[in-house]
Formats: sequence, C-alpha cells, structure tokens
Amino acid sequence: PQDETLLEVNNIEVIYNHVILVLKGVSLSVPKGGITALLGGNGAGKTTTLKAVSNLLHSERGEVTKGQITYRGDRIQDLDPAALVKRGVIQVMEGRHCFEHLTVEENLMTGAYTRSASGAEIQQDLEMVYTYFPRLKERRKSQAGYTSGGEQQMLALGRALMSRPETILLDEPSMGLAPQLVEQIFEIVKSVNENEGVTFLLAEQNTNVALRFAHYGYILESGRVVMDGPAAELRENPDVKEFYLGMS
Ligand code: ATP
Repeated sequence: PQDETLLEVNNIEVIYNHVILVLKGVSLSVPKGGITALLGGNGAGKTTTLKAVSNLLHSERGEVTKGQITYRGDRIQDLDPAALVKRGVIQVMEGRHCFEHLTVEENLMTGAYTRSASGAEIQQDLEMVYTYFPRLKERRKSQAGYTSGGEQQMLALGRALMSRPETILLDEPSMGLAPQLVEQIFEIVKSVNENEGVTFLLAEQNTNVALRFAHYGYILESGRVVMDGPAAELRENPDVKEFYLGMS
C-alpha cells in the first residue's frame, strides 16, 4: 500500500562539535514508493538530516543527541553505512564522489559490492542502469574523473542503483547542473521510482523542480520543519510561492 512508512525521523536534534545545535527537532516520514523532498535554503539542515539517517555525522563531529530514526520500525541510528545498504538504504552524497581513476563501468560495479549476487545478476543490473542512463553506456570505458558534472551525477545515481536499494537518499541532485540537465536527472528519478519502485528522499534547494517531481515535501528553515504537505499543495501555497518559488 502507498501509505506504508519506511523511514521515520522523530524529533531529532543534531549537534556539531558538542555545541552547535543544527537540527532542532526534525520529524518526517517517508512512505514506501514515494518521492519525498526535503526543501530549504542554504544551511537549513537538509544535508545534516540525510547524514543523520545514514549515520555519516561522526566523521564531521556531529551527533544525534535527541530523537529516533527508524526504518521499517527498527532503530537504525547505530548502523554503519554498509549495514544500512544491506537493509536497502543508500545515500548519494552531494558532490557525487566517484572514483576518478576508475572507468565509468568500474565505478558502477563498485555499487554492487555489498551484495552476494551472481555475476549474471550484476550484469543484468548493469544493463538496467544503462537503460536509464544511455549516456553512461556510451561513456562506460572513460575514466570517471574526465566525465562532466552531469555524467558524474548520473554515475552516482547509477552506482547507487547497483546496490538494488529499496530507498535512495539523494542529496542535492541539481547542484551545479544546467537547467536542462537538472530536468533530465529528475525525469530519470521519476522513472526509476515508477518502474523499479525505488523510494526517494531527496534534499533539494531547487524548490521549483523538486515540487514538480516529488509527491510530498518538507520545508526546513534553521533546523526546523516549518511546513509540509503534498507537493501539489505546497506549489499552490502563497508563502511557498513568495519565499521559495520566486515569481513563478
Ligand atoms: P546546503 O544546501 O548548503 O548543504 P543544508 O540545508 O544541507 O545546506 P547543512 O549542510 O545540513 O544545510 O548545514 C546546516 C547547518 O549546519 C549550517 O549552518 C552549517 O554551517 C552547519 N554545519 C554543517 N556541517 C557542519 C560541521 N561539520 N560542523 C559545524 N557546523 C556544520
């Protein structure tokens, strides 16, 4: 059913360096099969929220000091990212982070590392990824470091798909990309969601595009959710129009 909740973030507080309170009680839920958008300006706390979910805050001296995060009802706060991938949750980080000296295809193959799938299955998944990203197929023998920003974003997403995730946490897919490419990436997210049933939680500063593709949105301001609702309603909300959609 559409309303089965996968991820539940309940009133979390995050503090960096023991003193900097960045998330001040954030709650959200991510339904299975949906595209949920986490919106808000620079520094609102979107990335911090995603990193709290995938337990990536420690390396930045951040910690969740209050609240709970559950996936399918199980507490996931203390799982390391690899264990989380095994549960079906993978994060695509802002800035993409490919292995620059490996080829595009080798990068994709690294996405399958936590799986015990056979070579044939992995080959099939590679073909699946290439159907969504024909551009990556064309570039499969190229060294990843020499591909464009758009191709690297595709690669990051393609690599995540190679782990056959149930849920993808996608941080700022539009970052640094020309409008046409942003549109293309979101179209792909939408078809992966529809055809593969992958659930998305995406953080995005580009409210306009995010609210056209997402089903539901949360707006963060200074570490708090100030508004949430179905994307279609948020798009029509006067405050959202004024503060987040510019004149459009
Ligand atoms: P952006 O789009 O710029 O990534 P964001 O909404 O994702 O914005 P966060 O990156 O989560 O925001 O940052 C939220 C706040 O936490 C900001 O004020 C930022 O300066 C602060 N912050 C982020 N990382 C750290 C850190 N490692 N140490 C201290 N403060 C941090």
